[in-house]
Amino acid sequence: MDHGVVLRRIVTGALATNTWVVHASDGSDAVLVDPGDEPERLAAAVQDLRIRAIVLTHAHWDHHLALPLLAQLVDAPVLAHRAAAEVWAHELQQARATGHWDAGTATADLLPSGRIQLDPDRELWTGRIDHELADGELVTAGELTLHVRHTPGHSPDGITLAMPGHLLTGDTLFPGGPGLTGWPLSDFPTIMTSVETLLTGYAPTTSIHPGHGPSTTIAAEAPSLPDWRRRGW
Ligand SMILES: [Zn+2]
Ligand SMILES: [Zn+2]
Repeated sequence: MDHGVVLRRIVTGALATNTWVVHASDGSDAVLVDPGDEPERLAAAVQDLRIRAIVLTHAHWDHHLALPLLAQLVDAPVLAHRAAAEVWAHELQQARATGHWDAGTATADLLPSGRIQLDPDRELWTGRIDHELADGELVTAGELTLHVRHTPGHSPDGITLAMPGHLLTGDTLFPGGPGLTGWPLSDFPTIMTSVETLLTGYAPTTSIHPGHGPSTTIAAEAPSLPDWRRRGW
């Protein structure tokens, strides 16, 4: 039996968030990671699979706007790091104070489009986690096993999901460097520790699939680690 891993990427929402769907090549039990937005489209994209769990890499709004409806449509539990509730509470408080979601450096550009306005009629995640994930834990779906790594820094609840040959890094690690740490609750030294752990802990051929944009590999990114430390972001 070949238990290789198959990944699907669906891009949704104002910040073009990557939703990753993973299943074993010989099975249809799957894990859906980061339901960014457009819940009906996400549900349609996985209708041939059985979603056993919805996992959040972290609780920033752009990674789970689709969660309330999608969790109903696919009838799956929500898994996230314990600190996700605190991160989400902070996000909500900020959004209610300003009337829009914090899109980091893209906020000024996106505001006129209306796409990051807080919609009072939209059902949002309650912050309820069905199963809290801790570092070292295993998430399974059929023949698929994901290894949870706590990788804080972009946010305190940041996790990376590791499987043979692939890492789903959320907003922790991208082509060209670590995720942004200008956010509230972010910390640059902390994310660099997380990034170094990932870049030194997996084979060079391992693919890195981030929460936004294209994928990369350990081999492509690891040599830049000292440069990232020096530049400080
Ligand atoms: Zn984020
Ligand atoms: Zn993000």
